[in-house]
Amino acid sequence: MKDIKNIIVVGSGKGGVGKSTVSTNLAICLSQKKFKVGLLDADIYGPNTPSMLGVSDENPKVHGSGNDQRLIPIVKFGISIVSMGFLIEEGQPVIWRGPMLNSIIRQFLYQVEWNTLDFLVIDLPPGTGDAQISLAQSVPISSAIIVTTPQIVSLQDARRGLAMFKQLGVPLLGVVENMSVFIPPDMPNKRYEIFGKGGGKILSGENNLPLLAQIPIEITLVNESNKGVPISISEPDKESSIRFKELAQLIKKQFIN
Ligand code: ADP
Repeated sequence: MKDIKNIIVVGSGKGGVGKSTVSTNLAICLSQKKFKVGLLDADIYGPNTPSMLGVSDENPKVHGSGNDQRLIPIVKFGISIVSMGFLIEEGQPVIWRGPMLNSIIRQFLYQVEWNTLDFLVIDLPPGTGDAQISLAQSVPISSAIIVTTPQIVSLQDARRGLAMFKQLGVPLLGVVENMSVFIPPDMPNKRYEIFGKGGGKILSGENNLPLLAQIPIEITLVNESNKGVPISISEPDKESSIRFKELAQLIKKQFIN
């Protein structure tokens, strides 16, 4: 782990808000800036990043034996990827309890040949459970990003997620509001606030944190991630790709001198 310079975790109060979408596109945009980037999909309950990156059929190799066993990340689009999705059968539930979770998370961090990385982006499971706590206590996290939607009713969950990081002493980088507006593909100048507005602004404001990015809903984002090609690669000029690029730039500014 000593060769990993910056660990950025991406968390959310609840699932489905776009945490994996933000993690994968952020990892890609950082790698496009010529950084060495790893992506750890620690969302053990819904490991989606392999399908988003088109590597769900891959089986990572293991080097060494016994305590010296090392998992070799899958490399795609220039980033080194490790996911729980590689280790569990598709469609199987994950029903591990605290101690098992703790040990698998430690293995993901310490028994993977990450090599030298400028950034390790960790896609956390949603919520405030054992996995998040294990992780925060296992590695020096440089900073956490909280993903939320504009919907005011989601704020309660997002607040809990954010408060957990504070309690664990994890430095907070800021809030990303996903699904801020819907941009219809046939009328790209129109904006519809289908999930209401204000969630990201309120959450960041009440915690004195920056609102790092507001990502629109774009149909291409769904289609491309279903195809295994993140939008930042397939459609770099779309508004969401531009927002992801700006987010990577902010992180570069913050962590690289
Ligand atoms: P989480 O990791 O928080 O559970 P995901 O990143 O898996 O959420 O996103 C949930 C679903 O919503 C996925 O199908 C994803 O492609 C889609 N999605 C996420 N963000 C957007 C967006 N900005 N525009 C369109 N679809 C999105």
